[in-house]
Amino acid sequence: MKIDSIKNGIVIDHIKAGKGMYLYEVLGLEKLDCQVAIIKNAESKKQGKKDIIKIDSLIDIDFDVLGYVDNGLTVNIIKDGVLIEKKSLELPEKIVNVIKCKNPRCITSVEQELPHIFKLTDREKGVYRCIYCETRAKDR
Ligand SMILES: [Zn+2]
Repeated sequence: MKIDSIKNGIVIDHIKAGKGMYLYEVLGLEKLDCQVAIIKNAESKKQGKKDIIKIDSLIDIDFDVLGYVDNGLTVNIIKDGVLIEKKSLELPEKIVNVIKCKNPRCITSVEQELPHIFKLTDREKGVYRCIYCETRAKDR
């Protein structure tokens, strides 16, 4: 695909350099049939270097996952070749099944069917804790 000629799709911009592949994985983009481009280490005036993901389709994106992984990124939504929406992200209050609790005594490691839920407990520092055992999630 021509990188700059998305007609209908999503461009995730200002991703911290090195986080692009990780986002690709946690968003499950490998399951898509449409074209997806990851640009690594693009030049950025603001950040020095950044990653960009371009998705050639208007898929439903999990903004909570995006915000959790990197709340400094922007999501551009393009329809008929026109940028219709530019979204900035915040840390989500809660994330479900994005990361797993590492505490071996946590109920989620016994009860396999339980969802892994983490709550934001300190917005300033970006601290997430398991809702079952309060174990702190590792930093992103
Ligand atoms: Zn736990």
